[in-house]
Amino acid sequence: MLLPSQAFATRRHFLSGVGLFGLASTLPTNLLSLASGRTVPVGSQSHAVPGSAIKNRAPLAPSVFHLLPLGSIRAHGWLDQQLRTQANGLSGHLDETWPDVGPNSGWLGGSGESWERGPYFLDGIVPLAYLLNDSILKTKAQRFVDWTLDHQAANGMIGPASNNDWWPRIVILKALTQYQELTGDQRVISVMEKYFQYQLAVLPSRPLRDWGRFRWQDELLSVIWLYNRTGSAPLIDLAHLLHKQGYDWMAQYANFQYKSRITREYLKLNAGNGLDDLALATHGVNNGQAIKTGPVWSLVSGSLADRSAALKMISELNRYHGLPNGMFSCDEHLAGLDPSQGSELCTVVEYMFSLEQSLAITGDPSLGDRLEQLAFNALPGAFTDDMWAHQYNQEPNQVECSLHHKPWVTDGPESNLYGLEPNFGCCTANFSQGWPKFTNSLFMFCGVQDNDRQDGIVAAAYAPCEVRTSLRGTAVHVLEETNYPFHGRVQLTINPATPMSFPLLLRIPAWAAGTSISVNGQSLPSPTAASFARIERTWKLGDRVEIAFPMATRTSRWFHDSIAVERGPLVFSYGIGEDWVKLRDHGMTADWQVFPTGQWNYALSLDSEFPAKSLEVTETEIGEGPFMRYHTPVQLSVKARKLNEWRADDGAANPLPQSPVADDQPEETITLIPYGAAKLRITAFPRCKT
Ligand SMILES: [Zn+2]
Repeated sequence: MLLPSQAFATRRHFLSGVGLFGLASTLPTNLLSLASGRTVPVGSQSHAVPGSAIKNRAPLAPSVFHLLPLGSIRAHGWLDQQLRTQANGLSGHLDETWPDVGPNSGWLGGSGESWERGPYFLDGIVPLAYLLNDSILKTKAQRFVDWTLDHQAANGMIGPASNNDWWPRIVILKALTQYQELTGDQRVISVMEKYFQYQLAVLPSRPLRDWGRFRWQDELLSVIWLYNRTGSAPLIDLAHLLHKQGYDWMAQYANFQYKSRITREYLKLNAGNGLDDLALATHGVNNGQAIKTGPVWSLVSGSLADRSAALKMISELNRYHGLPNGMFSCDEHLAGLDPSQGSELCTVVEYMFSLEQSLAITGDPSLGDRLEQLAFNALPGAFTDDMWAHQYNQEPNQVECSLHHKPWVTDGPESNLYGLEPNFGCCTANFSQGWPKFTNSLFMFCGVQDNDRQDGIVAAAYAPCEVRTSLRGTAVHVLEETNYPFHGRVQLTINPATPMSFPLLLRIPAWAAGTSISVNGQSLPSPTAASFARIERTWKLGDRVEIAFPMATRTSRWFHDSIAVERGPLVFSYGIGEDWVKLRDHGMTADWQVFPTGQWNYALSLDSEFPAKSLEVTETEIGEGPFMRYHTPVQLSVKARKLNEWRADDGAANPLPQSPVADDQPEETITLIPYGAAKLRITAFPRCKT
């Protein structure tokens, strides 16, 4: 398959590829058709030109950025490979092999699973199906959508009649809003209006409880989405009622108390207190979802303190539970700083979704840094290369994936197996949203209220893709060619239908001091790290923006002063030799244990003053897949010594010894690979005394 850099090696080929190239007399016609919203051929696909983003309607506070209407962004290159791998794997076939989302699902009118799993599945396969223009996957999604839209109760309630829990409805609303943006299906608007009227009337006597009470902010997103389209005043009342009944996450983090590993005894889980406030307030997925609470609520409250609450939450989680893969520990409750603790896959994808929404509302570039760190490390790290199997819990120092109890705080012995539904099936249903929603967040819209002269485009995160949107009624196409995050060069080709002035904002990560940017070969002043660089000019067809991120290696400090190695947004691990042993066949897939075939107990031997000097980088082209264990597009080599006293117990690496460590073993050179490619790995290393 041709990567974009090969396919569009010349401008002529590029223009041909996006349907803009032709005889001089046909060019304006094509461009006019882009601007007027007709469909135009692109390769073998057709695209309707998407509209522009919808700004918040008064009295909602303005967002700094907005997500582009779904359908605006298409993946290219390695990201397209990744989405196709996902669709060819468990995501695209889950309904064929897992009864919980199969033909007997309650969300298809059957008597089977009727709670969160159908909605979770839909929340991921709707964007995946449309990103890939995959007709089979669209048909699968449509069945769930149609059943939900066609079976609304007379009073307005939606979903299977066998339960009336608000929580799974919160998830189906997220899926329906995406579907509506992609298809324009007006049934969604009327069903949501009627449902919200019903909920507004019923909530006072049947309030939010357990999961729904702790995840109310996800429903608020859908309420705001509908309000921006209809302006119906009772939706603002509903927003206030959700806030009033929902758990007060801002208060939890204003005075954060959960600073160490949360145990079963502390939660009194054995007494059946799993849905008590204490258990739900320290639950990983709930906290991942909660990160968006402040920014989303700030749209209603107008409070800047609410808007910045996401940063405070992330900072507290990082301080007391942070792991070098960008996650916080949660197996299944907050689990402290030891990198042998795990993080649940649901939390990874929900944290990503929170970051995407929070970045759009606040415009804070650090949220984009964190989003990339999760997308390029923790997300692929939890899957087999073919995405037919996943983990429930992943660990940064993961020396064995086998049936064991240690170190999980509250989870079961299958938690870090790769399989169909290790430990519990929530992640099986929920993981599909990770890559598609990330793809849909690569570019965003920026603008100010009541002044469309400031409307512009934001590169919020980087990966190969193309964007089609419109600004002030003019179609704008942007092609992003890059092998980021493996390599540091990003090229954007800007194609407005007619020359027009607008701002282009480029996220400059905090690690990227020294980034250089040029437009059509002319260098711009060096941008500031941890900011958005703003380029405002009259853009014309084929303008080229080149960004060179400095991909210097760097080290970060973790548990017991251990060291992790990073380069750009990638975290690097020592990939331990893997022996995959099938535990059982499981439908169309299987459950796997993975045992180490060699030693892993290395301490890094680094230059004490300039640790990065001790790391040598090798870059190669991206092969069959970006996170394949045996063909990683970037590798580092570093000196290390075995540390005999550091061992494993019951399948988990014992706590790292306090660094620096004295070590008399001979020095070796070891290779580090991207975290996502190493299914057994050491990511936080002891550091040798020098
Ligand atoms: Zn889960």
